[in-house]
Amino acid sequence: MIIEAKELSKIYGSGENKVVALNEVDLVIAASDFISIMGPSGSGKSTLLHLLSGLDKPTSGSLTYDGKEIYSFSDKELSAFRRQSIGFVFQQFNLLPVLTAKENIIMPLLLDKKQPDEKYLKQLSDWLGISNRLTHLPHELSGGQQQRVAIARALIAQPDIIFADEPTGNLDSKSGGEVMEMLKNIQRKMGKTLVIITHDNRIATMADRQFVIVDGVLSEVAAR
Ligand code: ADP
Ligand code: ADP
Repeated sequence: MIIEAKELSKIYGSGENKVVALNEVDLVIAASDFISIMGPSGSGKSTLLHLLSGLDKPTSGSLTYDGKEIYSFSDKELSAFRRQSIGFVFQQFNLLPVLTAKENIIMPLLLDKKQPDEKYLKQLSDWLGISNRLTHLPHELSGGQQQRVAIARALIAQPDIIFADEPTGNLDSKSGGEVMEMLKNIQRKMGKTLVIITHDNRIATMADRQFVIVDGVLSEVAAR
């Protein structure tokens, strides 16, 4: 899947309250790229993530996935496309507290009226080290375990792309390191595209291509 953003701008408010949150961002993300985007608070990171993942629409500009302009999809087409192609990992894990780990993981499929592939679920949970925690509720799990459940949920529908927003922001450095190793393997071994938003330089430098965003302007600072 190739993602191509052209001159993406997002302006909030008007007059004195006008904020240019994103200023003509151009970005091409190739299949199985690992990209990090770093920037100070208020620089436009969340806005960019919301636009790239089709959660929000820009003031101007275009975004294509394999040549298809996704902002021209209907809301229904767009949410189906997102559920199929994109997995999200958040800083706050966003697990539903009354559901078990397994129920949380398979929720995206149930919303799509699909049944989980038990073999894939088992592979995923073995690999993430949460097989013996599937019947636990989120509050019975450590932060690192909750984030690994969230990663399994992001992968259950076998999307091409994972967007991770400060995935280690609520973890101590040991669990954070483990979660980053897993995310990196998802990109290396499973061949997924990985886009990570972070303000941790150690995480940013793990990526193959590093970007910085300042006042809504995105620049590539390093690539290997
Ligand atoms: P970051 O994620 O880097 O902290 P954001 O993308 O959240 O930055 O915000 C970029 C800029 O846009 C900030 O100046 C913020 O105040 C502004 N902004 C974000 N969302 C809104 C909104 N819904 N309404 C008005 N201004 C917003
Ligand atoms: P990690 O190093 O992964 O963050 P912790 O040291 O926080 O793990 O937790 C160690 C063990 O204690 C884990 O296996 C977890 O299941 C269990 N545990 C952590 N928090 C809770 C809790 N609130 N309730 C029940 N068990 C917990």
